[in-house]
Amino acid sequence: MRIILLGPAGSGKGTQGELIERHYGFPRISTGDLLRLEVQKGTELGKMVADVMKSGQLVADELVLRLIKDRIIDPDCQAGYVLDGYPRTLNQARLLEQMEDNRQETVLEIYVSEEAVMERLAGRRVCPECGAVYNIKNNKQTIEGRCPVCGAVLTVRDDDRPEVIRERFRIYRETIGALLEHYIKKQVLFRVDGNRTVEEVFGSIKSILDERITGSQGESSRP
Ligand SMILES: [Zn+2]
Repeated sequence: MRIILLGPAGSGKGTQGELIERHYGFPRISTGDLLRLEVQKGTELGKMVADVMKSGQLVADELVLRLIKDRIIDPDCQAGYVLDGYPRTLNQARLLEQMEDNRQETVLEIYVSEEAVMERLAGRRVCPECGAVYNIKNNKQTIEGRCPVCGAVLTVRDDDRPEVIRERFRIYRETIGALLEHYIKKQVLFRVDGNRTVEEVFGSIKSILDERITGSQGESSRP
């Protein structure tokens, strides 16, 4: 099973991806993490990625796809995996399907209102020292404005300023349409209301995935 998580920044899809990983054992593959890791490892590919990122350009679809390809051949991805951050465009979706066309696919779109995203991201703070991310709304340890792990003063990322959040949300809405349409046609799209608690959202995701998993087992056992 290939699970694709769609949703704007602040929709909670990263958290849901982690919950899916914990519950089903399907590793969550974040393309952002893959790219950062490759840069850290200093591989040839990593150097290419670093150059592109430095120039402020987007990393080419083919390059990201190569990283995903290398990751999903690992044995832990055999039963399934969760993609977070890819595909973002129709072209990327098609490349993914060409690369691996024999996997059952489930696309989960977590939709949230702009207000909910604004509220969540406005409380986000990052630690400039250790990179930890907190939300001052639900993490009382950060009340002093310091990182509970290393004690550094927490900061707001440039990315989390309200005007940047609004612009990013607008771009997401504009670009996601073609991708959603593609998955509707394939009949693999499931929409989940993300304007609820983490537990409620995961409850919905679980019923969708349980049904998909049972359904596919039924299919494969038929002659
Ligand atoms: Zn810290």
